[in-house]
This record gives sequence, structure tokens and C-alpha cells, in this order.
Amino acid sequence: MTKAHAIAWAFFIFNGFSMATFAKMQAMKNLTDTLQHFLFEDKFNNAMPIRGNLVYLNDTYHQVLQHQTLPPVLKHALGELMAASALLSATLKMDGAMVLQIQSKGALKLLVVECNSDLNIRATAKWDETQTSQIAESHFIDLVRNGQFVITLDPKEGEAYQGIVPIEGDTIAEMLQNYMLRSQQIDTSLWLTCDDKSACGMLLQKLPDIGGTAALNKKAIEQDLDAWNRMNYLANTVTADELQNLPAEILLSRLFAEENVRLFEPKPTQFYCSCNQTSVASMLRMLGEEELNSILAELGKIEVNCDFCNKHYLFDAVDTAALLATEASVHISTAKH
Ligand SMILES: [Zn+2]
Repeated sequence: MTKAHAIAWAFFIFNGFSMATFAKMQAMKNLTDTLQHFLFEDKFNNAMPIRGNLVYLNDTYHQVLQHQTLPPVLKHALGELMAASALLSATLKMDGAMVLQIQSKGALKLLVVECNSDLNIRATAKWDETQTSQIAESHFIDLVRNGQFVITLDPKEGEAYQGIVPIEGDTIAEMLQNYMLRSQQIDTSLWLTCDDKSACGMLLQKLPDIGGTAALNKKAIEQDLDAWNRMNYLANTVTADELQNLPAEILLSRLFAEENVRLFEPKPTQFYCSCNQTSVASMLRMLGEEELNSILAELGKIEVNCDFCNKHYLFDAVDTAALLATEASVHISTAKH
């Protein structure tokens, strides 16, 4: 989206229910696979230091689920993680991917979601299939209590960053809120909901003062805090049904009826898996020549299945020799420089 385009959209401001008719026209448009930014403004149309995002995942969510039959508790947790990954990665300036990963040694082994700057999302789960019926009767929090929740930021350029999200609170939203406040010092509120139909969510985030000099002004700080508390109070009335079924315009005008909300153009989200022959070959290369040859000796071929998209990769002896030779040539070319 061009900057001019964004500015054009930024002129679309609504207050209370005055835009209800327009919202109805848009009603079906926003309810599927989109992320929308919004901002609050004061009565002088100055931006308040609070931003928000709304996400509706439908096809994106269903395409992830096509590759696995998950017990409902894991399906809904994976959906909430997907919604959270889109809401949080949309707050970053980084060009790259955010990975949310919960690992455990119990019946649940792994939940992993990756969302990149273009809102391409992929996700998968692993669990002990002999315990599927126990999982179905468990609360999500009991499945992850002794696990580890890791957030990774993997920029296209520069080094990856990893943070540990404490398993505290009863929900994924609470865990991530605690993490954002304690590890990143950013006040962030999240509302996540997921059922068999869709995965949706809303984020509010308090920004450091926008004006620059406001930080020096005690009154401005108090006003900012006041606004932050007020918006959270209002947002907290949101229900799962509203998050899933109301288009952004109607939802925001209902929650923040007395406030000026500036809503930006929806951005599409989609399921996308970045796996390909080259990435699988590099992964195999890391296993080493000895290991690969022993698999070939035993099975006559090396088969790899992508957990995210279920795509099948097959390497025979010739392919394997070629991928190992590629490694050699990479080493030679590195050595030359
Ligand atoms: Zn894949």
C-alpha cells in the first residue's frame, strides 16, 4: 500500500454510530482474512498514543486445519496463537517473521505459528496421539503448565531475537500481555477468541508519547494514562461473539461510541508455507553425510513431509549426492573469498 493510499484512508474517520450505514455496506467485506489498524484521536483530532489492531482469520485458519485433525482444545489454542501472531507482528516495523511456539513434554508436544510481515501465516501442532482422548477432556492451561512458550523474531536482515513468555495466567492472551509488559515494557492488551469457524482478536497498545515533548509534561502523561485506562475499560466489554461476527466499523463504534476512532484499510491475511526443495535440502544437509547415507542404505530414499502444509519431498541417492555436492561447492566458494 502506498503512503498516499494510507493517508486517503486515514481521512475516513467515524464517530459513534454516524457511519452505521457505511458500516453495513462494508459488513461482509471485513469479516474474512483481514487485519485492520486503528487509532484513537482526541476532540482536536490529535492522535492519542494508543493504537489497535483487529484480526479476522477464516480461510487462513481453515487452510492450516486442513493438514491435521486436531483435538478441539488444540485447534482453538492454535487459532488463538494465529490471531495473536498477526496482531503482534502487525505492531512491528521489522521485515521478517514472528514465531510463537509452545513446547511441552506432556500429551501436548508442540504448537507453532509463524506469521511474516505480509501476514502470511502457517501453523502446526504435535501431540501424543495415544492421549488424544485425554487431551480432548483437558483445559489448555493444564496441557502447557510445565511447558515452554517462546517468541522468536526472525528479521530478513540481522539476527534473530528470542524471548521466553512465562506460562502465567489462564489464557494465551494473558501470557502474551504479561510478556509484553515485563520483557518489552510495552502496555499491550489482547482479546483472542477461536471456535471451529474462525480465529479472531483485538489488540490495544500504549505507545510512548507521539509528540516527543509530551514526556516532559506531567499533565500529558496523566492524560495518556487516563485515555489508556478508559479504552481498556471500554474494550474489556467485548464478547467473543462480537469479535467474530461484527465488522470492524460496527465493533469499534459499539465499543468506543463516545471516542474518535480512525480506522485504516484492511490488509489481507493468508495461509502460506515457505517450504521448498531448496529449504528441505538445506535442512537435510544439516543432518550430515553419514546420517543421510545410512537412511539411504536402509530405505533406498529419503522422504520428508512438511508439517505445515503436508507437502512431500523425496530424495533418492542421486538427489542426495547432489545436495551434498552443493554443500561442498558452497564451502569452496566461501573459501575463495
Ligand atoms: Zn510446507
